[in-house]
Amino acid sequence: MASKKMLSEHFSEDEFRCKCGCGTLNVHPQLIATLEQLRALYGVPIKVTSGCRCRKHNNKPVKDGGAGGAPDSQHIADKTRPCRAADIKIRGCGARDIADRIRDWQSWDNRLNENLEAIKGVGLYKKYPNLIHVDVREGKFTEWTH
Ligand SMILES: [Zn+2]
Ligand SMILES: [Zn+2]
Repeated sequence: MASKKMLSEHFSEDEFRCKCGCGTLNVHPQLIATLEQLRALYGVPIKVTSGCRCRKHNNKPVKDGGAGGAPDSQHIADKTRPCRAADIKIRGCGARDIADRIRDWQSWDNRLNENLEAIKGVGLYKKYPNLIHVDVREGKFTEWTH
């Protein structure tokens, strides 16, 4: 039985490693803390469909097997730059609902939401209504739909 190496209680190294096979794995600790917080609030498993990406895999178009990410994507990681983004699915939840709930939680005036406050980027995909991008970039909150 292979033992899964974990980054935290509920998230494994394998689900965050770059999908191209290069082995890139460097996740910002705030991203993990934020995902654990979301998991605790929802109480159901969160599936990470994309975490770290080397620049090459990020920039490669989807039709060529790449991630087709933005050139400055928060997913991009290397030894000195940690990945700050994850594309996730939360069982039984639509992305629009998750995005609205994040904004709602962020408006609460209590200290428990520090890890939710850290979410500064939310991305929705018209084609995938259950997939949501969250990132812990620095700067102002931004939401986009692709
Ligand atoms: Zn890679
Ligand atoms: Zn993403």
